[in-house]
Amino acid sequence: MASPANLNLQLLAAAGDPSDVTTIALAGVIAGAALRPAEYSAPIAGLGVEEFAWLLESEFPYLEWDAHLALRAQQKSAPRPSNSLDEFSDLLALLWDHRAEDDTRSLWLACAVSTACMSANHLWQDMGLPSRHMLGEVLQSHFPVLHGLNSGDMKWKKFFYKQLCDRAEVHACRAPSCTVCNDRPTCFGPEDGLPLAAFAPAAMAMHA
Ligand code: SF4
Repeated sequence: MASPANLNLQLLAAAGDPSDVTTIALAGVIAGAALRPAEYSAPIAGLGVEEFAWLLESEFPYLEWDAHLALRAQQKSAPRPSNSLDEFSDLLALLWDHRAEDDTRSLWLACAVSTACMSANHLWQDMGLPSRHMLGEVLQSHFPVLHGLNSGDMKWKKFFYKQLCDRAEVHACRAPSCTVCNDRPTCFGPEDGLPLAAFAPAAMAMHA
């Protein structure tokens, strides 16, 4: 299998529309599989093999057949996500419940965002995106209500987990509200930084 950097470039070169932000996000999450914890080494966790094959054919119609087959095999052999150790299924449900449309791309993206949340960097970095701004565009287009709820511009992973706690009526925060909380810098600090090294070539190509 190609390195994350090469696979990302390969996918973008094979995209039906390489300037489409959803396609760029899907390519980044697929290419970043090797950077995630082993239990989330599927190209996109939560999708069945046939659904994933349909995604590849739709988003990356010019992908060479051997790369297509290798990714399918990786999707098939990867562990299935379980909700016993983390919140993957809850995150997926949160996103899916806020979809703007009942379309396959929203499902693919919900799975992709949930998969990327299992890594340790800023969400936009773990999705292989060139900027946090592009993540906002992607979320706004598929999950506009959820995007709008983050009016305080919380860090995206923190925001999703706060939503899960609120849904479950779990009061994990020590302060009664964010405005008086000592942990505010942790939840609302800037999500700046550079794209992960594995995605730098694609980010540079987008800015060329
Ligand atoms: S700022 Fe404090 S109250 Fe708000 S989500 Fe973070 S930890 Fe919870």
